[in-house]
Amino acid sequence: MSATQDTAARRPTVGPAPRPRRGRADPRAARQSSLREHNLSLVLRHIIEAPAPTTRARIAGAVGLTRATVSDLVDRLLRGQLVVELETESVDRAGRPGVLLAPASRSVVGLGLEIQVDQISVRATDLAGSSIVQSRAAGDFRASDPAETVERLVRLAAPVVGQLADEGIVVAGACVSVPGIMQRGSGQVRLAPNLGWEGVQLTDLLRVHHPFDLIPVELGNDADLAARAEARARAQLRGTSRAAQSFLYLAGEVGIGGAIVLDGELASGQHGWSGEIGHAVIDPDGPRCRCGATGCLEQFAGKDALLRGAGLDVAEPLRRLVTAAHMRDPRALRSIEAASTALGMAIATAMNIIDVEQVVLGGIYASLYEHLRPGIEAQVRLRVLAARWSDVRVEAALGQGDSALVGASLQVLDRVVTDPTDWVPSS
Ligand SMILES: [Zn+2]
Repeated sequence: MSATQDTAARRPTVGPAPRPRRGRADPRAARQSSLREHNLSLVLRHIIEAPAPTTRARIAGAVGLTRATVSDLVDRLLRGQLVVELETESVDRAGRPGVLLAPASRSVVGLGLEIQVDQISVRATDLAGSSIVQSRAAGDFRASDPAETVERLVRLAAPVVGQLADEGIVVAGACVSVPGIMQRGSGQVRLAPNLGWEGVQLTDLLRVHHPFDLIPVELGNDADLAARAEARARAQLRGTSRAAQSFLYLAGEVGIGGAIVLDGELASGQHGWSGEIGHAVIDPDGPRCRCGATGCLEQFAGKDALLRGAGLDVAEPLRRLVTAAHMRDPRALRSIEAASTALGMAIATAMNIIDVEQVVLGGIYASLYEHLRPGIEAQVRLRVLAARWSDVRVEAALGQGDSALVGASLQVLDRVVTDPTDWVPSS
């Protein structure tokens, strides 16, 4: 990795340094080399996911490697500017002083981009999990033209990338969050009902614009990305390991996204299309949904349905509904109660099928949590078979807004963590 590229031309500093050419390796050496790469990733992930700065000795104890091996790997990560040394701790557990290690700030970033029905946004997140720069623009992207939407997104993102390049910060890649289902690995949005998009080659549309001609771009489903950010927030704020996280995540927006996290990993299904709880049927005789079916959950509990039910215009900001609910406005409370019953029915059905005991409410549902919770819990207690003996819980998301955007930037960084070899000098 180099932080000294041609910033004068405002070209983004992108991607890993070329991998050093290696001699013809015999298979045994290749195995040893891949083991070293695996251990390098293991140590980096431990430093990044630790709730607080840690030491070489603690890493060695946690990942089951010798102190000497960990020291060698940490030295490589230091030279690659992926981790940094902080102050010396007074004494480590073995009674010796240990130098604290933390993920590097402002060295490598993942660029998250988000296209939502009512806004577009961009954020650069560094390995320490901090937002380096963030920008958003409101708009109405219902039934939008994909090429025009991409042009607006590029206009929003280009100055951000320019600023990062000026500071010598390396952009590892970009991930675009879309409220829809993607064709895995193809750069194609198969269907985003609320944007009115079908079969859109989104990465191709981005690549014709600078700086995305130089930045690797991938796509992700908004709820999946938000759930990824939530799993990380839960691990860091509560100190429980990522592997201990299992929950059903709901992202309330105009549409309703869902994601399943099992043992810290997304259970995204055979094609990556799981979690479309917004199109769970609540009433087959209900209103027509943008997906083409009738009576989907979105038509009862999506943002538009909540606002309309409260007598508000769908263009009103959500805080109008939140305020009305706090003031005990009867129409607002009736609208939220109807939505909570529909949500509870869909959530209970999902919990019966996928066997998780925790539900996390994100997006607009986090700010309506206190009002939604009783109705959802009543349905869950009534309908989830395991609720008689297991500890079924409905909680608000810990992630503060922008979870899909945060998740998109973290997804890019996760590729660096999974394979850091290209980013560090060889041993
Ligand atoms: Zn639908």
